[in-house]
Amino acid sequence: MFTCMTSSPEETGHLAELVGQKIREGTVLCLEGDLGAGKTLFVQSLAHTLGVEGDVTSPTFNLMNVYEGICRIYHFDLYRLETEEELEDIGFYEYTEEPEGIVVIEWPNKFPESLPEDYIEVRIRKLGENSNERQIDFSSIGAKNQEFIKELEEFVNTGH
Ligand code: ADP
Ligand code: MG
Repeated sequence: MFTCMTSSPEETGHLAELVGQKIREGTVLCLEGDLGAGKTLFVQSLAHTLGVEGDVTSPTFNLMNVYEGICRIYHFDLYRLETEEELEDIGFYEYTEEPEGIVVIEWPNKFPESLPEDYIEVRIRKLGENSNERQIDFSSIGAKNQEFIKELEEFVNTGH
């Protein structure tokens, strides 16, 4: 696990850009954090870094967005889902079990039992009610991304 602090949307965007430069196809990224933490902003910057040109918006109502960049990016938001059956209906497991491209999931904690074995967790915490300060924790769940998280930490801290 490693932690980054940001003080503005731009700084969080820059951090997501660094992740976008390093991330590998086949990775699932789960974004935890309350409403307004910066999950969607993070995904926007990540997707643009991966060559997505159109709008990147929270798929709160349509549940999943697909973007075309240098690879395909599947963007889920589980906030409005009520049952595990709905999750199955939108094809969640097909996308997350052996992911092609990159899968990003907002509100993964709604369905902790349904998450894949391996993923990168990005937890964004707002430090104070009206604050722009964010604490962002990166961790690897499962064995697959352990090395990657170490490389990412080094890249974020040193630029190489
Ligand atoms: P979420 O998807 O987690 O609900 P959004 O990304 O939609 O949140 O919104 C985050 C909001 O917080 C944006 O309006 C953004 O400008 C603002 N913000 C302020 N400071 C930061 C920061 N350090 N990092 C990310 N967003 C920030
Ligand atoms: Mg959002």
